[in-house]
Amino acid sequence: MKGVGPQRADLLKKELGIYIFKDLLEHFPFRYIDKTKINLINDITPLTEYIQINARVMSLEILGDRRSKRLVAEVKDASGILELVWFQGVNWVEKLLTIGQVYLFYGRVSFYQGLPQMTHPELEMLTNDKSESKNFLEPVYPSTEKLKARGLGGRQLAKLTYSLIQLLQEKDVPENIPQQIIESMKLSQRFQSFVQIHFPRDQEAHMQAICRLKFEELFLAQLRMQLVKTSRHRTSKGVVFNHVGDLFNRFYSKHLPFELTGAQKRVIKEIRKDTASGRQMNRLLQGDVGSGKTIVALLCMLLAADNGYQSCMMAPTEILAQQHFRSLSALLENMPVEIRLLTGSTRASERKKLLLELAEGSIGILVGTHAVIEQQVQFNNMGLAIVDEQHRFGVAQRAKLWDKAMIPPHILVMTATPIPRTLAMTAYGDLDCSIIDELPPNRKPIVTVHRNESYRSQVLDFIREEIVKGGQAYIIFPLIEESEKLDYENLMRGYENVKAFFPEPKYWISMVHGRQTNQIRETNMQRFKNKDTQIMVATTVIEVGVDIPNATVMVIESAEKFGLSQLHQLRGRVGRGKEKSFCILLTGDKINSLARERLLTMAATGDGFKIAEKDLELRGPGEIEGTRQSGVLEFKLANILEDKALLEQAGALALQVVENDPHLNSADNLLLKEYLQALRGKTAWSKIS
Ligand code: ADP
Ligand code: MG
Repeated sequence: MKGVGPQRADLLKKELGIYIFKDLLEHFPFRYIDKTKINLINDITPLTEYIQINARVMSLEILGDRRSKRLVAEVKDASGILELVWFQGVNWVEKLLTIGQVYLFYGRVSFYQGLPQMTHPELEMLTNDKSESKNFLEPVYPSTEKLKARGLGGRQLAKLTYSLIQLLQEKDVPENIPQQIIESMKLSQRFQSFVQIHFPRDQEAHMQAICRLKFEELFLAQLRMQLVKTSRHRTSKGVVFNHVGDLFNRFYSKHLPFELTGAQKRVIKEIRKDTASGRQMNRLLQGDVGSGKTIVALLCMLLAADNGYQSCMMAPTEILAQQHFRSLSALLENMPVEIRLLTGSTRASERKKLLLELAEGSIGILVGTHAVIEQQVQFNNMGLAIVDEQHRFGVAQRAKLWDKAMIPPHILVMTATPIPRTLAMTAYGDLDCSIIDELPPNRKPIVTVHRNESYRSQVLDFIREEIVKGGQAYIIFPLIEESEKLDYENLMRGYENVKAFFPEPKYWISMVHGRQTNQIRETNMQRFKNKDTQIMVATTVIEVGVDIPNATVMVIESAEKFGLSQLHQLRGRVGRGKEKSFCILLTGDKINSLARERLLTMAATGDGFKIAEKDLELRGPGEIEGTRQSGVLEFKLANILEDKALLEQAGALALQVVENDPHLNSADNLLLKEYLQALRGKTAWSKIS
């Protein structure tokens, strides 16, 4: 392309991933400049963010030594004088600017020693060439400092894109969405949309173009998910669990400690239908904290055993794996099923024996951490893999499960907390989804309050009252990074304070954190579980899944530091027994508005599905744990939060297309098929599990 020599081409590749015309065409503007809107230097106030000025360069000076070299320019318009500063590309910009010339400068205003200045403004020489200015808005593109220093700032990229569009014709950017959908959604035509998003004719055309391209993005992503899902339904061979046998029935009638909820029964039916179909199951099980996912998992594993298959259940932490192992072992006490635990701390001799038994098939259920997906762990015939509290389990780790058996095992992914619908659609769209939307009966809502530091002694008094009544309390400290010294010291200080208020031997305290050995952690957990200790001081290692029904108080220290789903998880550690439970969110006096909103949300609702939606709203899709690395949310234009309605429509239409024409063979879908084939190989997530 004209204007792009080898050096610039190289930079475009390295800095922006632009290799070919298509990449440049899809490098969308992040804002637009209305050239008719020029600010005056004198109008700058402390509140001014961005300005665009038309000013003459009065002086140019390179200051500082080699390490702190900078270029300072003084520019002047009819109203006043402003200082512009460059720290990078100093020599290059100096050559570019001529004293006495008028330029258009655009950039962010900052204040240095009380005076306004602009650092690294974008600049453009004002010429009489009006050929490009007939457009309503001028695009500005994301760029980088390195590119700017080589004359490829946001505005120069606009010039490149402009010449690219001059080169293109409609046939180069063919339509890819079926005509019927274009009409029903009133979408603008594809080529025109690309032209209009870069160089909008007017507001209307601009909005149309954005809408069309966002829809395309969402529709294609949903379509690919649906295609993966249906092709797997059609072709992936799965082991067959076609009979409900003695183990399942015996457990169900004799050892089930409670009546299942309607939702639990429904989900088990869905799973049974799936696993009997002869196709491999890939199912996401969503349920709120405490909704009883564990028992569902156990019944499925018994179903596998009834059909002669082994299962494994993976948990994200050692504590959880141990707890699962213990509670499952207790439930299976009078059942002829071998259940074993494998974690990183399993002793070598024991591990060796276990691996042998696993390979020969005498172990029916293996519970463990990541250790179970290591290469050396070979099953005799694994038929079902359950991944608990999935958000800490990477996509790649799940993929390893495929290699554990000749026929890939059925996979059940259980979430720790509900996930918002839009997120489920985009991140797990190729999994079937089951939802437990009902809590076991007689759960009392957990009373949640927010208190600041000045209430500390009342909070401690309250804990004492609960202990006198026979309850137990958790006190949780933030430990974002297990190794962070400061957090650790806070925890220790907190522990000492609690201990001073609750002295031995009248009270005993357990403490659990990431710096302990597994054995010490384990002993502390066990003592709390056995009611030998009344208080558990812990960090978030306790977070997921821990089940101690006698605990009635959850105090969260520095609650403003926690995210919503984490708070909800922590709160879910209480309210598991018959007694009324409490969650106290302690914070300092000053907290920011986002944190305040999180705390208000916690106090207002106990519904995990609502909390998940709020969490997404407050944090934005990019910040949601566990999905970032998979890249599935990286839409160029669409945003699953703002474009929720469009996503839902796109999802429904994609489903319709795939249901009517799973191979995209009809004439209507021909362009779509060709387009997808050209893209093939670019999805990292075509097989999420
Ligand atoms: P989660 O879905 O958070 O993993 P668990 O499986 O740990 O929840 O279950 C939470 C608690 O509820 C456990 O103590 C479990 O024994 C109990 N429970 C599960 N299902 C029922 C039910 N149908 N009736 C009564 N209690 C139940
Ligand atoms: Mg659980």
